[in-house]
Amino acid sequence: MSKHTIFGLIGDPVSHSMSPVMHLAGFSALGIEAEYVVCQIPADRPDLVETEMRRLASEGGGNVTVPHKAAAAQALDRPTKSVTSLGACNCFWEPEPGILAGANTDVYGIQRSLENRLATHLPRQVLVLGAGGAAAAAGLAAAQLGASDVHVFNRTPGRARILVNRLQAAGVTASVVEGSPSGEYDVVINATPLGLHEGDPLPVTFDCVSPGLVLDLVYGMRQTEWTRVAEAAEIEWIDGREVLLHQGAACYPLWFGTEAPLESMRRALFDEVR
Ligand code: NAP
Repeated sequence: MSKHTIFGLIGDPVSHSMSPVMHLAGFSALGIEAEYVVCQIPADRPDLVETEMRRLASEGGGNVTVPHKAAAAQALDRPTKSVTSLGACNCFWEPEPGILAGANTDVYGIQRSLENRLATHLPRQVLVLGAGGAAAAAGLAAAQLGASDVHVFNRTPGRARILVNRLQAAGVTASVVEGSPSGEYDVVINATPLGLHEGDPLPVTFDCVSPGLVLDLVYGMRQTEWTRVAEAAEIEWIDGREVLLHQGAACYPLWFGTEAPLESMRRALFDEVR
């Protein structure tokens, strides 16, 4: 049984992450005395990921973010079905000594964020920008919510085709957007890192693409520029903090066998950090 003393986030970059503040609030609300640390492993050293995961798992567990989710998936002794179908792991723990288990809670986080907002109507046409692990999770989440078509646009079209093949193999009706995206969509999801850094261009502009709702997986301490532009154009928006909250909450049953204290975690993300 894990000791539940140290949890950590593995990725590069990790210094911007709000996972520590969110999880420390969650641990405190549950009376769990544990640390949550950030572990920067350079993007060109995926070979170091497994050792760090096993070290953290033996003390508690952790999360994995860009760009190491694929390396994390490969390190697991016990991947969940979501890890196997996406090839990406963002949550890990040690269910018994020496065994590394991992899940992908991003799909749940995206699905939960969208369904909370789309209570009355199903998203039919969904545009996903990007073709990495987050885009895969977004495509799967949209399909699970009833999307009839998932359209994938990526700056490298070959990677969009690979993602579309993967989604199709999982039973999702998906296609590649050739050229520039245009037209009307129920939901447009930004699954690129555009917006993480000041001065980044918008993932897509609203003169050619007309969404009912935008979901920006990128997040910062404040609302992202893309969601600000959406709000000004009277388009509904959700930013990555909502997804962070739900993907993080989904780790608690896996780490501790208990439900997450969602409201304490939400306050840490939306109220206390400004
Ligand atoms: P990834 O596997 O590295 O994929 C990134 C994707 O974005 C690739 O398709 C890449 O295109 C594209 N991209 C990168 N830089 C770009 C640029 N300058 N212009 C246009 N496209 C660009 O990353 P990921 O794991 O999918 O994560 C993507 C984003 O989602 C990250 O910012 C991450 O923080 C965020 N995310 C947030 C949450 C949350 O809880 N809020 C959860 C998961 C992910 P190429 O194929 O051409 O390289």
